[in-house]
Amino acid sequence: MEKYEILENIGVGTFASVYKAYNRETNETVALKGLHVFDKFEGVAGSIIREISLLREMKHSNIVRLLDVAVESGTNKVFLVFEYMDVDLKDFMDTRSETAKDPHLIKRFLHQILSGLAYCHSYKIVHRDLKPQNLLINSSEKILKLADFGSARPVGVPLNKYTEGDEIATPAYMAPELFNYLKYSTEVDMWSVGCIFAEMCNHEPLFCASDEFGLIDKIFSLLGIPDKQIWPEVTEHCQFLGIAENSPPKNLAEVVPDLEPAGVDLLSKMLRYNPRERITAFDALNHPYFAGLGGP
Ligand code: AMP
Repeated sequence: MEKYEILENIGVGTFASVYKAYNRETNETVALKGLHVFDKFEGVAGSIIREISLLREMKHSNIVRLLDVAVESGTNKVFLVFEYMDVDLKDFMDTRSETAKDPHLIKRFLHQILSGLAYCHSYKIVHRDLKPQNLLINSSEKILKLADFGSARPVGVPLNKYTEGDEIATPAYMAPELFNYLKYSTEVDMWSVGCIFAEMCNHEPLFCASDEFGLIDKIFSLLGIPDKQIWPEVTEHCQFLGIAENSPPKNLAEVVPDLEPAGVDLLSKMLRYNPRERITAFDALNHPYFAGLGGP
């Protein structure tokens, strides 16, 4: 740990604080994620082992690079050392609002999110907690990378219900199949990408509610109430069906008024109730919305 000089606290995640630091040996600026590894009762936290082992395998220009794992002697703290990115997407939208609303930049960022995600999904890794805070940006080069793999899971076949107490994605970005602990797989990430895409256009969350029932109500009032024709497993969600007023789906183009028609079409394919009909990251990368995406 001696080779790292901590400069400032730059973020607080679910399980850890993140610091900007300086590597005295390489003269690099890095980000240190400090984790309390040994829990008195549970030993090494599962989320930490998962994050380290997954990140060690993943090498892609749109996934934040894990450079080192450093142990602080005499404490139970481990630091994950990452390449330093100067801002996350949430702060970028908050502090550089005009730049962030540039339609070409939205397209570039979305393409990079999908490239990183297509890579994860090709290895059958589900991120499970995609949200603007977990998308890191190098603001001078406009490079975006996926981060925070603490909730990520490998899947060979669709996963079964979570064990009790397991953390699920941040509610505003959660796919509907996660609400009732149904089987889920990589498609949950594509729902989150749809929510992030709309948020990049409007600079406000697409579905904003304080609890899961409020959220499902928001989803139903935007997309209409699902029936068995569009989502055969919908009856497994029947407890949710009673809480929403039956309203027809809204016109998505009116929800994201500044988005070009090809973008609205792509967004509608990300926000499909039936996970099997939701567009994949690979297919999304080939969608006509990206046809005009040349260089910077
Ligand atoms: P996390 O625990 O990974 O969700 O990180 C919490 C916050 O710390 C993020 O929302 C970022 O603002 C910041 N952060 C995480 N990793 C980095 C990094 N590699 N470079 C710069 N900031 C980071």
